[in-house]
Amino acid sequence: MTARTSDIEKAADVLRAGGLVALPTETVYGLGANAEDPAAVARIFQVKGRPPSHPLIVHIAGAELLGDWVEDVPETARLLAERFWPGPLTLVLRRGRRVPLEATGGLETVAVRVPGHPVALALLSAFGGGVTAPSANRFGHVSPTTADHVRAEFGGAVDFVLDGGPCAVGVESTIVDATGQTPTVLRPGGVTREDLEALLGRPPAVHTTSRIRVPGQHPSHYAPRARVVLVEPEKVVAEAELAQELGHRVGVLLPPAFTDAPVNAHAVVPVPGSAAAYARGLYGFLRELDRRGCDLIVASLPTEEGLGLAIANRLRRAAGPRPAA
Ligand code: AMP
Ligand code: MG
Repeated sequence: MTARTSDIEKAADVLRAGGLVALPTETVYGLGANAEDPAAVARIFQVKGRPPSHPLIVHIAGAELLGDWVEDVPETARLLAERFWPGPLTLVLRRGRRVPLEATGGLETVAVRVPGHPVALALLSAFGGGVTAPSANRFGHVSPTTADHVRAEFGGAVDFVLDGGPCAVGVESTIVDATGQTPTVLRPGGVTREDLEALLGRPPAVHTTSRIRVPGQHPSHYAPRARVVLVEPEKVVAEAELAQELGHRVGVLLPPAFTDAPVNAHAVVPVPGSAAAYARGLYGFLRELDRRGCDLIVASLPTEEGLGLAIANRLRRAAGPRPAA
């Protein structure tokens, strides 16, 4: 879907006026504000219920603008940007002076990305500046991959929702710390480890568990209302049926090898065989199982290669221990 030109102009006006715009990207929908307007950026944290120490990603219209937002562009960062932008790769670099500390959670580094969605790029060009945008969901909840998901999360709390159709990638960007000598993956995402290795000529370092840069982050994230339990693929059906018999309303993410099996559960979603289709559908599946009233979701992890690594990362965190109510 392509948003109308008048909608893009309206969204750019809302950003200029310090408002919040939900915008489509190829990964997930973002909740965007003018990156250079600290009050607008503060509203993102307020609307999401996100702790202000959690840094945001600054979205820009093209790789050639990167130097405007960071202190310097090391050679590896330039290579990564040239190869993967526009696309689902976020680079963490030293903060340029125009980026307020509100957008970086007080850090001297900033995360920057050029999104690969025509509507996002049109908005960034019309607006003319950078747009800080985390995923357009309440903190800790499942990310949105359609405009309807965003409306279901926030209702009227967002000034304008720009509809660009369903997101093509469906999981967030890969975040790479490119400040040092060795690029380090901080979060797996739409650009795979294999893609990075092919460009760099060696596997990138991966540090997704030492989340020191995101203080106080809870292990539970990307979480539906229903509790999520992960088991081996061949145990999904038995585990689901047992829980259903014990009185749960069980939702099942049924692994591809078992999609012919009849399952006694409240709701069953057959998982697509391709990792790309699974990534595209994942958050919608979790939302669907919530909508159908499941209180428990039984799932298994896909093979952790290609996009499977990002899917497994999101499922693990969706299954992580929840904060006490
Ligand atoms: P999201 O939660 O999808 O908006 O993605 C934002 C994530 O980007 C944060 O939770 C951090 O993990 C990461 N991030 C953003 N800025 C930085 C930074 N300066 N250093 C390290 N990680 C960052
Ligand atoms: Mg998020």
